[in-house]
Amino acid sequence: MRYSRHLVPTLKEDPADAEVMSHRLMVRAGLIRQVARGIYDLLPLGLRTVRKIESIVRDELDRAGCQEVLLPIVSPAELWQESGRWDVYGKELLRIKDRHDRDFCLGPTHEEVITDLVRRDVRSYRELPLNIYQIQTKFRDEIRPRFGLMRGREFIMKDGYSFHVDYDDCRREYDHMRLAYSRIFDRCGLTFRAVEADTGAIGGQMSHEFQVLAGSGEDLIVSCSRCDYAANVEKAEGVVADTPIRFPRTPLEEVATPSVRTIEEVSKFLDEPPRRFVKTLVYIADGKGIAVLLAGTDQLSEPKLRATLGADEVRPATEEEIEDFTNAPQGFAGPVGLDHLIIADKTLLGCEGMISGANKVDTHYRGIDQDRDFPDAQFADLRAANDGDLCGRCGNGSDAGRLEAHRGIEVGQIFYLGTKYSEPLGATFLDADGSSRVMEMGTYGIGITRTMAAAIEQNHDDNGIVWPLAIAPYEVVIIATKWADEKVRDTCEWIYEGLATAGVEVALDDRDERAGVKFNDADLIGYPYRLTVGPRGLESGTVELKRRSESDQAELVVSDVVEEVAARVLADREAL
Ligand code: ATP
Ligand code: MG
Repeated sequence: MRYSRHLVPTLKEDPADAEVMSHRLMVRAGLIRQVARGIYDLLPLGLRTVRKIESIVRDELDRAGCQEVLLPIVSPAELWQESGRWDVYGKELLRIKDRHDRDFCLGPTHEEVITDLVRRDVRSYRELPLNIYQIQTKFRDEIRPRFGLMRGREFIMKDGYSFHVDYDDCRREYDHMRLAYSRIFDRCGLTFRAVEADTGAIGGQMSHEFQVLAGSGEDLIVSCSRCDYAANVEKAEGVVADTPIRFPRTPLEEVATPSVRTIEEVSKFLDEPPRRFVKTLVYIADGKGIAVLLAGTDQLSEPKLRATLGADEVRPATEEEIEDFTNAPQGFAGPVGLDHLIIADKTLLGCEGMISGANKVDTHYRGIDQDRDFPDAQFADLRAANDGDLCGRCGNGSDAGRLEAHRGIEVGQIFYLGTKYSEPLGATFLDADGSSRVMEMGTYGIGITRTMAAAIEQNHDDNGIVWPLAIAPYEVVIIATKWADEKVRDTCEWIYEGLATAGVEVALDDRDERAGVKFNDADLIGYPYRLTVGPRGLESGTVELKRRSESDQAELVVSDVVEEVAARVLADREAL
């Protein structure tokens, strides 16, 4: 790639609307441009990284025995009505009508379309198992598209689906895909964890997310210091050591708490630790109000609540609904005397001497004891696991490991689906004994464009991106400090041709710009290697080589440059 003939529009200033590093750097390095909210152009350098991630994905999946197809982006409503998702998917599903007024949608995922294909063309157990994938543009009308490619409305996904004669075979393929995914993210040069996850709207009974570790990640995950247990906090089994929560018992009494509502405010006002509070949330589960209790320092996991209740949808109540439910304004809800269904986190079982709202304006109760004041509550694990919890997997008490929390970016997720789609869509096969049976399914997704963003979140410094070699747009950039100098120009051309012939992906900055501008752009774009060719070095027959990830540079003799740099790049590739 020659700068003089390429579109590499780098910018000095951060874009005003970019909140996270990957978004800022992708715009500044000229990898993407926004067209509309959550919808982007991929420019030449951005597209190269996308293609590299795709090719690693293809390589590993083909090796794992999967087959690539390309399904349509637009799919007819009938398929979604058959699975039942037309009515439950909500506004993320962009629905459109054709000229005959028929309903269609832009595919946010393709379980229905692929199951339709397989049910028509696969008849016998002899044709199974099958694992089919595609790499394609998806559309989800996200309520809050943000962070550039991290959460777009239009984005590139690899989605795969497998079909099996029974659970055991599906389970085998699930584990097989888990390994293939680990190889994919390893080869991309990323630090990640495979964590147990909630199955959410896709449904099914078993799932892992692949989380790239980065401080800016939206997800919280925990991993055990002792065993290999790792899970999204929404799902993780953390054990709290100091239970039951016991504070000194005092008589139940009302205390005035004028205009203080949140646990933080009331805790300060009464000079009591947040742990002493019973946090009382009002939720609407499938249209019905319930009170949800947690220790004051804990956070609710909505997926755990939904799973415990067996509800399709849970959401926080609105201010109005809370007033109806507690007869008091928001901020004063509590379990005492509440004549509704109460579900409490199990850390509250047996708690004593607690504080909570009194369902009365500007009033709280002190001296709440669970056994007397909310004896009939249903108890379950509802809290999001926390840093420092005991691991719920590797033993009880003192020999259990501790959970460590990390921030992560979900770049992929795999699910065991069972017959959730094959049953309603009638994907059946004839078994060896002649009986007709429903196929078992798994589904496997990777956010290609999100992986690119996550790679930048994990690999950057103050000057720009620091690409892992495997997914850098180019491996080496050659910088001519003075293009006008004939000797510099000839040497650059010679190195450029030599490296390209050796199979190295090389860019040549042949612009008539100051050296400083070129260095800044090279750092911003994040090429793994930078070769600097200038008149002074050439006088002594040398050029400079610098790795983007290191501060030192080395002098190389001009005649050895091509061989030396090609050898280093190939060695780096091998190491992956
Ligand atoms: P999230 O919880 O982040 O909204 P999801 O769990 O709904 O994602 P999946 O249905 O599991 O996403 O999709 C598979 C993969 O596609 C995700 O792991 C993620 O990498 C990617 N992905 C999902 N939504 C987006 C989006 N809006 N923009 C970019 N990538 C996305
Ligand atoms: Mg997911």
